[in-house]
Amino acid sequence: MGEKPFHARQMLKWVHKHGVLDFAGMTDFGKKLRTRLQKDYELSLPEIIGERLSADGTRKWLVRIDCGNAVEMVFIPDGERGTLCVSSQAGCALNCSFCSTAQQGFNRNLSAAEIIGQLWLADSLMPRREDGGRPITNVVMMGMGEPLLNFDAVTSAMDLMADALAWGMAKRRITLSTAGIVPKIYELRERCPVSLAVSLHAPDDALRSELVPVNKKYPIAELMQACRHYVQGLQRDRITFEYVMLDGINDSDAHAQALSRLLRDIPSKINLIPFNPFPHNSYKRSPQVRIDAFRGILLRAGFICITRTPRGDDIDAACGQLAGNVKPRSARVAARRGLLNT
Ligand code: SAH
Repeated sequence: MGEKPFHARQMLKWVHKHGVLDFAGMTDFGKKLRTRLQKDYELSLPEIIGERLSADGTRKWLVRIDCGNAVEMVFIPDGERGTLCVSSQAGCALNCSFCSTAQQGFNRNLSAAEIIGQLWLADSLMPRREDGGRPITNVVMMGMGEPLLNFDAVTSAMDLMADALAWGMAKRRITLSTAGIVPKIYELRERCPVSLAVSLHAPDDALRSELVPVNKKYPIAELMQACRHYVQGLQRDRITFEYVMLDGINDSDAHAQALSRLLRDIPSKINLIPFNPFPHNSYKRSPQVRIDAFRGILLRAGFICITRTPRGDDIDAACGQLAGNVKPRSARVAARRGLLNT
């Protein structure tokens, strides 16, 4: 706009710290600037079109981003911590065989505004904490979509999350999860080194390519190299490796041993995710005794390994269950949806 830079800083504070979207309420702007803003500019939010509350306190919202598309975001309260799981794309192009978002195909990238708008909305919908603090203490880019395939918008939105004038979250409280877009992991390290989670799910290329097809393009050895590079110099940090527990597919003792060999020299934390079922999919969740045995092997090998408690699965808000409402874009997707509906 050709205005002074300090006005941008004031604007950041109004919108993200104080939650003010009406230019008239931005009282430290001169009258002339306020009038100009009101005449030529607009601050608007995506619209909430659905809300569900789980028995465990998890909340899921359906957020409309345009006439054909809606994405889901999820708030997960956990003691002192309040985590918001944010979507980065309408649909997803990666086609992982065990994920319900994949079934919809890909429609489009979200803009930085649509991504940060999710945080703004969720913050405004949740009560403040008893100490007056904001309800959301952590953000995970683990909703619908592959965040590293929408790199510019996702990193701009994460900049706002971390900016002291906006949300002021420590970068380690922001986690980006990726299926393994290797070149973008290197770029992220330079551009915005937040906590990194990698959806690994298998210790060898043959199995991983079946579960996470993008592995054919970026195989495990390259992915591990990128992970090693990512943590170098980030002393506080470990990479979180996500591993979905699929009955009879990737959950044997031999898989656990192979995983332990693979991650031996990477500062890591392993998150076992019991598979969350969804319609038109034949995988089953590994039995609890199997998950415990698998975890035991990793613990004995010296790893930090936790089993992620499924949260919000009664409202289809758990990992891999987010579907939103994605407008089919290609005939291929339309055909597949037609098939699924019959
Ligand atoms: N595309 C990114 C962000 C999604 S994060 C990524 O792949 O990391 C969502 C996490 O839930 C990923 O680790 C994903 O592999 C996992 N997931 C997907 N479907 C699942 C399911 N049905 N049950 C459990 N976890 C699932």
